[in-house]
Amino acid sequence: SSKSLQINEKTLSDILEKNKAFYKEGKVADYIPELGKMQADKIAFSVVNENGKVINVGDVNQKFTIQSISKIIALMIAVTEKGEKNVFSKMGYFGTDKPFNHYANLETTGKPLNPMMNAGAILTTSMIEGEGDIPFKKILEMVRYITKNNSIDYSKSVYNSEKETGNKNRGMFYLMKNNGLIEGDEEKLNNYFKQCSIEVTAEDLAKIGYFFAHQCTRFDGDTTYKNAEISQLIQSQMLTAGMYEFSGEYSRTVGLPSKSGVGGGITVSVANKIGIGVFSPALDEHGNSAAGYHMILDLVKQYNLSLFQ
Ligand code: GLU
Repeated sequence: SSKSLQINEKTLSDILEKNKAFYKEGKVADYIPELGKMQADKIAFSVVNENGKVINVGDVNQKFTIQSISKIIALMIAVTEKGEKNVFSKMGYFGTDKPFNHYANLETTGKPLNPMMNAGAILTTSMIEGEGDIPFKKILEMVRYITKNNSIDYSKSVYNSEKETGNKNRGMFYLMKNNGLIEGDEEKLNNYFKQCSIEVTAEDLAKIGYFFAHQCTRFDGDTTYKNAEISQLIQSQMLTAGMYEFSGEYSRTVGLPSKSGVGGGITVSVANKIGIGVFSPALDEHGNSAAGYHMILDLVKQYNLSLFQ
Protein backbone atom coordinates (compact mmCIF):
# COMPACT_ATOMS: atom_id res chain seq x y z
CA SER A 1 0.00 0.00 0.00
CA SER A 2 1.06 3.59 -0.61
CA LYS A 3 1.44 4.41 3.05
CA SER A 4 3.46 1.29 3.91
CA LEU A 5 5.69 1.75 6.95
CA GLN A 6 8.67 0.30 5.05
CA ILE A 7 9.92 -1.71 7.98
CA ASN A 8 12.85 -3.86 6.89
CA GLU A 9 15.39 -6.25 8.34
CA LYS A 10 17.85 -3.46 9.02
CA THR A 11 15.26 -1.53 11.04
CA LEU A 12 14.64 -4.55 13.21
CA SER A 13 18.28 -5.60 13.62
CA ASP A 14 19.29 -2.06 14.64
CA ILE A 15 16.59 -2.04 17.31
CA LEU A 16 17.52 -5.55 18.45
CA GLU A 17 21.21 -4.69 18.79
CA LYS A 18 20.41 -1.51 20.70
CA ASN A 19 18.21 -3.29 23.23
CA LYS A 20 19.53 -6.84 23.58
CA ALA A 21 21.50 -6.08 26.76
CA PHE A 22 18.26 -5.35 28.60
CA TYR A 23 17.97 -9.05 29.33
CA LYS A 24 20.55 -8.45 32.06
CA GLU A 25 18.00 -6.38 33.94
CA GLY A 26 15.50 -9.21 33.96
CA LYS A 27 15.28 -12.77 35.19
CA VAL A 28 14.14 -15.94 33.43
CA ALA A 29 11.00 -17.31 35.12
CA ASP A 30 11.78 -20.36 37.22
CA TYR A 31 8.64 -20.77 39.30
CA ILE A 32 7.81 -23.32 36.61
CA PRO A 33 11.15 -25.20 36.91
CA GLU A 34 11.30 -26.25 33.26
CA LEU A 35 11.15 -22.59 32.10
CA GLY A 36 14.30 -21.82 34.09
CA LYS A 37 16.35 -23.89 31.63
CA MET A 38 16.01 -21.28 28.85
CA GLN A 39 19.22 -19.46 27.90
CA ALA A 40 18.75 -15.86 29.06
CA ASP A 41 20.48 -14.11 26.14
CA LYS A 42 18.33 -15.62 23.37
CA ILE A 43 16.48 -12.89 21.50
CA ALA A 44 14.26 -12.57 18.42
CA PHE A 45 12.24 -9.81 16.78
CA SER A 46 9.61 -10.34 14.07
CA VAL A 47 7.14 -8.22 12.15
CA VAL A 48 4.42 -9.21 9.71
CA ASN A 49 4.08 -6.09 7.60
CA GLU A 50 0.99 -4.54 5.98
CA ASN A 51 1.24 -6.94 3.05
CA GLY A 52 1.52 -10.03 5.22
CA LYS A 53 5.25 -10.37 4.62
CA VAL A 54 7.36 -11.75 7.47
CA ILE A 55 10.52 -9.94 8.58
CA ASN A 56 12.66 -11.79 11.15
CA VAL A 57 15.88 -11.03 13.01
CA GLY A 58 17.79 -12.63 15.87
CA ASP A 59 17.30 -16.21 17.05
CA VAL A 60 14.53 -16.74 14.54
CA ASN A 61 14.24 -20.50 15.02
CA GLN A 62 14.25 -20.39 18.81
CA LYS A 63 11.14 -22.01 20.21
CA PHE A 64 9.70 -21.02 23.58
CA THR A 65 6.38 -21.62 25.30
CA ILE A 66 3.50 -19.34 24.43
CA GLN A 67 2.26 -19.21 28.06
CA SER A 68 -0.26 -16.42 28.68
CA ILE A 69 -0.43 -15.44 25.02
CA SER A 70 -2.56 -18.57 24.57
CA LYS A 71 -5.24 -16.80 26.63
CA ILE A 72 -6.31 -14.63 23.68
CA ILE A 73 -6.76 -17.70 21.49
CA ALA A 74 -8.79 -19.46 24.20
CA LEU A 75 -10.93 -16.33 24.60
CA MET A 76 -11.59 -16.20 20.87
CA ILE A 77 -12.77 -19.82 20.85
CA ALA A 78 -14.88 -19.56 24.03
CA VAL A 79 -16.62 -16.41 22.78
CA THR A 80 -17.21 -17.96 19.35
CA GLU A 81 -18.84 -20.99 20.97
CA LYS A 82 -20.65 -19.46 23.94
CA GLY A 83 -21.13 -15.81 23.02
CA GLU A 84 -19.52 -12.80 24.65
CA LYS A 85 -22.43 -12.16 27.02
CA ASN A 86 -22.28 -15.65 28.40
CA VAL A 87 -18.51 -15.65 28.89
CA PHE A 88 -18.49 -12.22 30.54
CA SER A 89 -21.37 -13.08 32.83
CA LYS A 90 -18.77 -15.17 34.67
CA MET A 91 -15.90 -12.65 34.69
CA GLY A 92 -15.21 -8.96 34.29
CA TYR A 93 -13.69 -6.58 31.74
CA PHE A 94 -11.55 -5.04 34.48
CA GLY A 95 -7.95 -3.91 34.42
CA THR A 96 -5.82 -4.70 37.42
CA ASP A 97 -3.05 -3.61 39.75
CA LYS A 98 -2.49 -7.25 40.72
CA PRO A 99 -0.01 -9.78 39.33
CA PHE A 100 -1.10 -12.44 36.82
CA ASN A 101 -1.66 -15.16 39.38
CA HIS A 102 -3.62 -13.12 41.93
CA TYR A 103 -6.91 -14.46 43.28
CA ALA A 104 -8.81 -11.19 42.72
CA ASN A 105 -11.81 -11.08 42.78
CA LEU A 106 -12.54 -14.68 43.67
CA GLU A 107 -12.95 -13.94 47.37
CA THR A 108 -15.12 -10.81 46.98
CA THR A 109 -17.47 -10.72 43.98
CA GLY A 110 -16.60 -14.37 43.37
CA LYS A 111 -15.73 -13.69 39.73
CA PRO A 112 -12.32 -13.27 38.06
CA LEU A 113 -11.36 -9.72 37.03
CA ASN A 114 -10.75 -10.49 33.35
CA PRO A 115 -9.81 -13.31 30.96
CA MET A 116 -6.15 -12.25 30.79
CA MET A 117 -5.15 -13.09 34.35
CA ASN A 118 -4.81 -16.76 35.28
CA ALA A 119 -8.14 -17.15 37.09
CA GLY A 120 -10.22 -15.77 34.22
CA ALA A 121 -8.11 -17.64 31.69
CA ILE A 122 -8.56 -20.98 33.47
CA LEU A 123 -12.29 -20.27 33.54
CA THR A 124 -12.33 -19.28 29.85
CA THR A 125 -10.67 -22.52 28.79
CA SER A 126 -13.07 -24.52 30.97
CA MET A 127 -15.93 -23.02 28.92
CA ILE A 128 -14.66 -24.36 25.58
CA GLU A 129 -16.82 -27.30 24.58
CA GLY A 130 -15.59 -30.87 24.43
CA GLU A 131 -14.53 -33.77 26.61
CA GLY A 132 -10.99 -34.45 27.79
CA ASP A 133 -8.32 -32.61 25.87
CA ILE A 134 -10.59 -31.53 23.00
CA PRO A 135 -10.62 -27.88 24.23
CA PHE A 136 -6.81 -27.89 24.25
CA LYS A 137 -6.74 -29.40 20.76
CA LYS A 138 -9.01 -26.63 19.50
CA ILE A 139 -6.58 -24.03 20.87
CA LEU A 140 -3.60 -25.83 19.33
CA GLU A 141 -5.35 -26.11 15.97
CA MET A 142 -6.22 -22.41 16.02
CA VAL A 143 -2.59 -21.47 16.76
CA ARG A 144 -1.53 -23.73 13.85
CA TYR A 145 -4.14 -22.14 11.58
CA ILE A 146 -3.23 -18.51 12.44
CA THR A 147 0.48 -19.17 11.95
CA LYS A 148 -0.03 -21.61 9.05
CA ASN A 149 2.49 -23.72 10.91
CA ASN A 150 1.38 -27.30 11.42
CA SER A 151 4.62 -28.25 13.14
CA ILE A 152 3.55 -26.37 16.27
CA ASP A 153 2.98 -28.62 19.27
CA TYR A 154 3.18 -28.39 23.05
CA SER A 155 6.18 -29.18 25.23
CA LYS A 156 5.43 -32.22 27.36
CA SER A 157 8.21 -31.36 29.78
CA VAL A 158 6.89 -27.82 30.37
CA TYR A 159 3.36 -29.19 30.64
CA ASN A 160 4.42 -31.72 33.28
CA SER A 161 6.42 -29.07 35.11
CA GLU A 162 3.39 -26.73 35.20
CA LYS A 163 1.08 -29.50 36.31
CA GLU A 164 3.42 -30.61 39.08
CA THR A 165 4.04 -27.14 40.48
CA GLY A 166 0.85 -25.27 39.56
CA ASN A 167 -0.83 -25.46 42.92
CA LYS A 168 -1.75 -21.80 42.97
CA ASN A 169 -3.60 -22.26 39.68
CA ARG A 170 -5.13 -25.44 41.09
CA GLY A 171 -6.35 -23.46 44.08
CA MET A 172 -8.05 -20.93 41.80
CA PHE A 173 -9.61 -23.72 39.81
CA TYR A 174 -11.21 -25.22 42.93
CA LEU A 175 -12.29 -21.85 44.29
CA MET A 176 -14.10 -21.15 41.01
CA LYS A 177 -15.61 -24.63 41.14
CA ASN A 178 -16.76 -23.81 44.65
CA ASN A 179 -18.24 -20.53 43.37
CA GLY A 180 -20.25 -22.45 40.78
CA LEU A 181 -18.34 -21.04 37.80
CA ILE A 182 -16.63 -24.26 36.71
CA GLU A 183 -18.13 -27.68 36.16
CA GLY A 184 -16.00 -30.74 35.66
CA ASP A 185 -12.76 -32.06 37.04
CA GLU A 186 -9.04 -31.28 36.80
CA GLU A 187 -8.95 -32.33 33.16
CA LYS A 188 -10.25 -28.81 32.55
CA LEU A 189 -7.29 -27.31 34.40
CA ASN A 190 -4.88 -29.57 32.53
CA ASN A 191 -6.11 -28.07 29.25
CA TYR A 192 -4.98 -24.68 30.56
CA PHE A 193 -1.53 -26.03 31.52
CA LYS A 194 -1.25 -27.64 28.08
CA GLN A 195 -2.23 -24.51 26.17
CA CYS A 196 0.45 -22.55 28.08
CA SER A 197 3.02 -25.17 27.02
CA ILE A 198 2.51 -24.71 23.26
CA GLU A 199 5.86 -23.91 21.66
CA VAL A 200 6.16 -21.04 19.20
CA THR A 201 8.71 -18.68 17.65
CA ALA A 202 8.69 -14.86 17.51
CA GLU A 203 7.46 -15.17 13.92
CA ASP A 204 4.44 -17.18 15.08
CA LEU A 205 3.66 -14.41 17.58
CA ALA A 206 3.92 -11.71 14.90
CA LYS A 207 1.37 -13.67 12.87
CA ILE A 208 -0.97 -13.85 15.86
CA GLY A 209 -0.60 -10.08 16.34
CA TYR A 210 -1.36 -9.52 12.65
CA PHE A 211 -4.44 -11.76 12.82
CA PHE A 212 -6.10 -9.74 15.58
CA ALA A 213 -4.98 -6.46 13.97
CA HIS A 214 -6.84 -7.45 10.79
CA GLN A 215 -10.30 -8.57 12.00
CA CYS A 216 -9.07 -12.16 12.32
CA THR A 217 -7.77 -12.32 8.77
CA ARG A 218 -4.65 -14.46 8.42
CA PHE A 219 -1.36 -12.98 7.17
CA ASP A 220 -1.80 -14.71 3.79
CA GLY A 221 -5.25 -13.16 3.33
CA ASP A 222 -7.32 -16.21 4.35
CA THR A 223 -10.65 -14.97 5.79
CA THR A 224 -12.06 -18.24 7.21
CA TYR A 225 -12.39 -16.72 10.71
CA LYS A 226 -12.87 -13.07 9.76
CA ASN A 227 -14.79 -11.40 12.58
CA ALA A 228 -14.41 -7.75 13.53
CA GLU A 229 -16.39 -8.13 16.78
CA ILE A 230 -14.01 -10.78 18.08
CA SER A 231 -10.84 -8.94 17.10
CA GLN A 232 -12.13 -5.78 18.77
CA LEU A 233 -12.88 -7.68 21.95
CA ILE A 234 -9.51 -9.43 21.98
CA GLN A 235 -7.55 -6.23 21.30
CA SER A 236 -9.47 -4.34 23.98
CA GLN A 237 -8.61 -7.02 26.54
CA MET A 238 -4.98 -6.99 25.43
CA LEU A 239 -4.86 -3.23 25.94
CA THR A 240 -6.60 -3.35 29.32
CA ALA A 241 -4.88 -6.33 30.89
CA GLY A 242 -2.52 -8.02 28.42
CA MET A 243 0.65 -6.83 30.15
CA TYR A 244 -0.53 -7.76 33.65
CA GLU A 245 -0.42 -4.93 36.19
CA PHE A 246 1.89 -2.96 33.87
CA SER A 247 -0.92 -2.58 31.31
CA GLY A 248 -1.81 1.00 32.26
CA GLU A 249 1.74 2.29 32.13
CA TYR A 250 2.34 0.28 28.96
CA SER A 251 -0.67 2.00 27.36
CA ARG A 252 1.05 5.27 28.17
CA THR A 253 4.45 4.31 26.73
CA VAL A 254 3.62 1.86 23.89
CA GLY A 255 -0.11 2.42 23.46
CA LEU A 256 -0.92 -0.79 21.57
CA PRO A 257 -2.89 -3.97 22.35
CA SER A 258 -0.27 -6.48 23.44
CA LYS A 259 -0.11 -9.79 25.27
CA SER A 260 2.90 -11.14 27.08
CA GLY A 261 3.70 -14.55 28.50
CA VAL A 262 6.15 -15.68 31.17
CA GLY A 263 8.00 -17.68 28.49
CA GLY A 264 9.39 -14.31 27.33
CA GLY A 265 7.19 -13.68 24.31
CA ILE A 266 5.03 -10.65 23.54
CA THR A 267 2.57 -10.28 20.64
CA VAL A 268 1.43 -6.83 19.52
CA SER A 269 -1.40 -5.79 17.18
CA VAL A 270 -1.20 -2.52 15.24
CA ALA A 271 -4.75 -2.22 13.91
CA ASN A 272 -5.02 -2.62 10.13
CA LYS A 273 -1.26 -2.47 9.85
CA ILE A 274 1.26 -4.90 11.30
CA GLY A 275 1.77 -7.67 13.81
CA ILE A 276 4.84 -7.71 16.06
CA GLY A 277 6.36 -10.70 17.85
CA VAL A 278 9.28 -10.50 20.27
CA PHE A 279 11.14 -13.01 22.37
CA SER A 280 13.67 -12.59 25.15
CA PRO A 281 13.15 -14.80 28.19
CA ALA A 282 14.42 -12.57 31.00
CA LEU A 283 11.39 -10.92 32.60
CA ASP A 284 11.03 -7.62 34.40
CA GLU A 285 9.37 -7.21 37.79
CA HIS A 286 5.90 -7.42 36.19
CA GLY A 287 6.60 -10.68 34.38
CA ASN A 288 7.03 -9.06 30.96
CA SER A 289 10.04 -9.65 28.68
CA ALA A 290 12.52 -6.88 29.57
CA ALA A 291 14.36 -6.62 26.23
CA GLY A 292 11.15 -7.44 24.37
CA TYR A 293 9.43 -4.43 25.89
CA HIS A 294 12.28 -2.12 24.90
CA MET A 295 12.35 -3.40 21.31
CA ILE A 296 8.62 -2.78 20.96
CA LEU A 297 8.96 0.66 22.49
CA ASP A 298 11.66 1.68 20.02
CA LEU A 299 9.74 0.40 17.00
CA VAL A 300 6.62 2.23 18.16
CA LYS A 301 8.51 5.50 18.64
CA GLN A 302 10.31 5.22 15.32
CA TYR A 303 7.09 4.70 13.34
CA ASN A 304 4.59 6.60 15.51
CA LEU A 305 2.54 3.45 16.04
CA SER A 306 0.82 4.29 19.33
CA LEU A 307 -2.97 4.43 19.19
CA PHE A 308 -2.76 7.75 20.95
CA GLN A 309 -0.73 9.86 18.49
N1 GLU B 1 1.43 -21.06 32.70
C1 GLU B 1 1.67 -19.84 33.41
C2 GLU B 1 0.95 -19.88 34.74
O1 GLU B 1 -0.17 -20.27 34.76
C3 GLU B 1 1.19 -18.70 32.58
C4 GLU B 1 1.44 -17.40 33.22
C5 GLU B 1 1.78 -16.29 32.31
O2 GLU B 1 2.32 -16.45 31.22
O3 GLU B 1 1.51 -15.17 32.74
O4 GLU B 1 1.50 -19.54 35.75
